Formats: sequence, structure tokens, C-alpha cells
Amino acid sequence: MQTDPNCIFCKIVAGQIPSFKLTEDAATLAFMDINPANEGHCLVIAKPHHPTLYDMPPELLAAVSVTALKVAKAVNAALKPDGLNLVQSNGPGAAQSVPHFHVHVLPRRLGDKLPLNWELKPGDRAAIAATAERIKAKL
Ligand code: AMP
Ligand code: ZN
Repeated sequence: MQTDPNCIFCKIVAGQIPSFKLTEDAATLAFMDINPANEGHCLVIAKPHHPTLYDMPPELLAAVSVTALKVAKAVNAALKPDGLNLVQSNGPGAAQSVPHFHVHVLPRRLGDKLPLNWELKPGDRAAIAATAERIKAKL
């Protein structure tokens, strides 16, 4: 599998750094974002290291989409947001901060005024862990 020893998401895939894991299969992994833009913000990543959409094998993109659908439904069932965005960023102009392909599953509340390029602010770990349990209960 393609991997990059300096990549934070490759380290999560390898179990070298911790994450609030939601679900995984052979090709994909979903876990909580540690700088949640909103409650329930999570990420679906491809396990192999591909920096951007342009590098992704189509069948791997399909696998990520299947997991994103599953996770989005669980987030919707657990947290009942007013809406939900799937966000996928490529390159500095799109504010991509981790060059390992991923999709944000981003629950939305009416009036949250979340900009497309939101600021990264560390979340409360205990609150993130508790939200992860609520989502996992719906998976
Ligand atoms: P992007 O800016 O679109 O590349 O998104 C990368 C996301 O990864 C950001 O929302 C970060 O908060 C998130 N992130 C970075 N490091 C970690 C980590 N160790 N665990 C969970 N999420 C992370
Ligand atoms: Zn990587």
C-alpha cells in the first residue's frame, strides 16, 4: 500500500497515533476531526496515501464515497443536524491542510455561518469522544 512516513493520516492508518475511529474497511477509514468545525465533524480517508483527488484511482474514490454515505447517514441519525456538507479540498487555494485524500463529513446547523475555508481550532477531546460514541451507535 502506498504510504508516506511523514503523513499524519498515514500514521493514523498505521495505528502510530491515536484517533477517535468510527469505522473502517480494507480501503477506507473514518474518524473524528480533532478540530471540529461543528459538533460531529468527521473525516473519511482512503487508507493508501494519495495527496489529492487528482491522484486517486477511481475505484478507491468509489470506496471512499461508499464509506462517506454510511458515515453521513449515521451522523444524520445520531445528531439530527439541519443539514450536512461533504467537503473535499485539494491544494492550498482550497485550504487543504493535510495532503492525504479525505472527505469532510460536516453536520450543519441553520445560521452557523460556517465559511468554506473554516479556521482550525482544537476541540474538547472528551466531547469529541462522546460524539463519536453517538455516531458509532448508528453505524
Ligand atoms: P483539510 O484542511 O481539508 O486538509 O482537512 C484536514 C483536516 O484534518 C482538518 O480539519 C484537521 O482538523 C484534521 N486533522 C489534522 N490532524 C488530525 C488528527 N491527528 N486527527 C484528526 N483530525 C485531524
Ligand atoms: Zn498519507
